[in-house]
Amino acid sequence: MSDQPHIHLGSLLRSSTDEAHVDGELDHLTYQQGKETQTLRFAEPAPFDIDVNALGGDEMYLQGSFEPTLIMECARCLRDVEVPLELTLGTLMRYDPAATEPYLEEAESGEDVLVFGDPNLDLSAYLAETTLLGAPLSVLHDEACKGLCQVCGHDLNEGPCEHSAAVPVEAIDTDLGTPEGSTHARQNPFATLRGLDLPED
Ligand SMILES: [Zn+2]
Ligand SMILES: [Zn+2]
Repeated sequence: MSDQPHIHLGSLLRSSTDEAHVDGELDHLTYQQGKETQTLRFAEPAPFDIDVNALGGDEMYLQGSFEPTLIMECARCLRDVEVPLELTLGTLMRYDPAATEPYLEEAESGEDVLVFGDPNLDLSAYLAETTLLGAPLSVLHDEACKGLCQVCGHDLNEGPCEHSAAVPVEAIDTDLGTPEGSTHARQNPFATLRGLDLPED
């Protein structure tokens, strides 16, 4: 198991008929976002299988698959949620010795091109970005997740806390799964607006 999936592309730059292959498993992925190192956590070793074919000149085509079971946080109660993804990879690549880090660039055709400067290419950033693009923006561990108490942080899925005792059951907003008008409604960033007394024109 390797933290840094590398593929060696030097021979593809010398021969336009050559191809390269790499496969393996990743138990997580780290990548740089600005100056911060971010980590994608996987619930089990995530298999990847990648082929790169030379297209002539500095261009290549990468194809393959990556199937991580991404660990995300429930948007309401923050507990871990396993999100299985089956990602099909297919990306044009271009060798540019000036590129210090591999990055995705949008070509005129609108397609993404993976630009890289080191023939010993680290695929971490590419796989991380592909994973993030393929993952849902937010997940709930359960559609009916009750979230956390905004006062004490208690997980309301495990039962009410002293702050929720006064909220009648009929007040539960089925769309949000949060008791409307209670402190718990703040779970939704727009919910606080509902509590404001706005002057009417
Ligand atoms: Zn939840
Ligand atoms: Zn509470």
